[in-house]
Amino acid sequence: MSTLIFSVLVVVALGYFGRTIYRRFTVLQKVTPLNRFDNIPERVKAVLIYAFGQKKFVQREPRPETRISEQAAGWMHFFIFWGFTILAVQVITMFGRAYIDDFYLPLLSPHLLGGPYLFLKDIMEVVVLGAISVALYRWGVSHPQRLYGFKPAEEKLAGHSHWEAYLILCFIGCIMIGGLLYDGGRMAYEHDSALVQSERAWQPFSALVGSLLGGRAKFFSDFGWWLHNCVILVFINLLPMSKHFHIITSLPNVFFLKTEPRGALNKMDLENAARFGTSYINQFSWKQVLDMYSCTECGRCASHCPATMSGKELAPRQLLLNLRDYLYAHEDQLLAIKPVGGDGAEAEAVTVGENIVGDALIHDEVLWACTTCRACEEACPVMIEYVDKIVDMRRHLVQEESRFPVELTRTFKGMETQGNPWGVDAGQRAAWAEGLDVPRMADHPEAEFLFYVGCAGSFDERNKRTTIALTKILKKAGVDFAILGEEELCNGETARRIGNEYLYQAMAQACVDVLNGYKVKKILTNCPHCFNTMKNEFPQFGGNYEVVHATEFVQKLIASGKIRLKGDGAQAITFHDSCYLGRYNDVFDAPRDILRHLPGVEIREMERNRKFGMCCGAGGGRMWMEEEPSKRVNIRRVEQALETSPDAVAVACPFCMTMIDDGLKSKNMEEQVKALDVMELVADALV
Ligand code: SF4
Ligand code: SF4
Repeated sequence: MSTLIFSVLVVVALGYFGRTIYRRFTVLQKVTPLNRFDNIPERVKAVLIYAFGQKKFVQREPRPETRISEQAAGWMHFFIFWGFTILAVQVITMFGRAYIDDFYLPLLSPHLLGGPYLFLKDIMEVVVLGAISVALYRWGVSHPQRLYGFKPAEEKLAGHSHWEAYLILCFIGCIMIGGLLYDGGRMAYEHDSALVQSERAWQPFSALVGSLLGGRAKFFSDFGWWLHNCVILVFINLLPMSKHFHIITSLPNVFFLKTEPRGALNKMDLENAARFGTSYINQFSWKQVLDMYSCTECGRCASHCPATMSGKELAPRQLLLNLRDYLYAHEDQLLAIKPVGGDGAEAEAVTVGENIVGDALIHDEVLWACTTCRACEEACPVMIEYVDKIVDMRRHLVQEESRFPVELTRTFKGMETQGNPWGVDAGQRAAWAEGLDVPRMADHPEAEFLFYVGCAGSFDERNKRTTIALTKILKKAGVDFAILGEEELCNGETARRIGNEYLYQAMAQACVDVLNGYKVKKILTNCPHCFNTMKNEFPQFGGNYEVVHATEFVQKLIASGKIRLKGDGAQAITFHDSCYLGRYNDVFDAPRDILRHLPGVEIREMERNRKFGMCCGAGGGRMWMEEEPSKRVNIRRVEQALETSPDAVAVACPFCMTMIDDGLKSKNMEEQVKALDVMELVADALV
């Protein structure tokens, strides 16, 4: 009878679970197609490192003012993950025991290879119980912001009761306790069985539990079996309705990660596009929807987001959860979309729900607050992508609605008419080089390196000093280089991040045409934004070059002895990582190595450094947007720099220079602490 009841429960529970999963999977087929089935070895490697290795859960993170270090919580997740993975085999065994008393999966009997597995399983049941205690402590006692939400951006999340988290933890605990009771009881009341005796030898904790059950061992064993199995059946049905859906979706989400260069946004097919951005829920790609399914709500993204930290309306987690809730609320309509044709055209023509960009769901301010710094993506343990989604929605705002912060009108006009976001007369592009005898490509087309100066280094007074410093270094080292001078064109990076893809493509193509006209092979630049777009995005336009950042280049000049440096007294320097140099392109060591070679310099790292470095606030076109004085990102960053009591803050990016310099002035610290580019420090120290 009990077998019959259990069989009915299994059929009902698995049937309902299958229906839910089928619906969720079908939604993925109804939204915008995307090819993420290439680069299989790289994807498998990512699954091993990030999913099975849980790398981003257990990595050490900074522990600044918000006490965000979650390494202990990461290890807790590590053990729960592995506990579940190991215990999956035991679930099958427990279900099989409904029908066969001594059921074991092939080869897993303790007489065969199953002994070590039973030992591991036994240990993991206890370890997971310990991990659950830590989780309960965090939810019930320590209340970290990562769980309860960062205000004000995550006000909505902070208002939740979070009952679901308690329930799931309770379920996991019941599964572990059920397993221990079942095995322990079985060992106590079937102690004469040779098979049970060999099980006992491998399961010390279950044996201990069994020894405590006394004359009611059979009752507790049966109770443990029902508890374990019934909770599993309810649990699998609760998963897709909750954030714990990630237990099922996070492995595929890691597998389908972006394998193109991190710094390359997708190129829109402007000629054939039926839309120019994303504004309806079904216009997200299936991978972007899988992201929505996979969020664990751990809050790592929000805890590193400069917009969240500076009190703006954007918190990446809340953004994703808003999209996810909207998606679930419109699941029936999504399922009703007719199948997508091979080119996805049919899906593009259909819209589900209302336009979500604006008052309805994702406010304009949320999208404009993003600096595209990628801190959220770097922190996310399940490889959720944010920048592409945000830029896709910005593309809609700019290209379909012409709705953007008013100050960007001037920026676009400057780029369109003068080829630079400042709108300075294009004829002044090479004014910085007057009297410096800098070779031009027109006169020296066979130069080994093109020094691409970029708009900031050409037009901004403060950054011109850096350009001149780098020129001095190149000349001193005898580098064969030339500049384009007045022929240099802006590469349009700012326009792309703001969402003006049309303008970007026109500017990028024109820039590539000039470079290809000179058959340029190697490009040297000091601007990480130019560096990133020329290296990672220009191949989309037929521009394939070896692009090197000035810090990498000068590091090699020092190492090869082509330049030598002298000291100028002791000074403490803290280095601010540029997002587009570091997080996007992994250049962390070169600038620090250069600083180490400067005699007398002591490097003092900020708490948030390298891949956890905090953005200066200028990326993603934010450089050109107004910022409420009380919410300025650069002030937060400068305060972090000042905590190291430096004599100077070193940067390797013209945008960072502007933001840090302004931040120091706002704090009235510009006399005591200088903002200096690494190139300026080197040029001043040249022997
Ligand atoms: S890219 Fe940076 S600013 Fe944008 S949501 Fe992510 S962390 Fe926040
Ligand atoms: S997006 Fe990633 S980092 Fe952010 S809450 Fe979700 S799982 Fe955590």
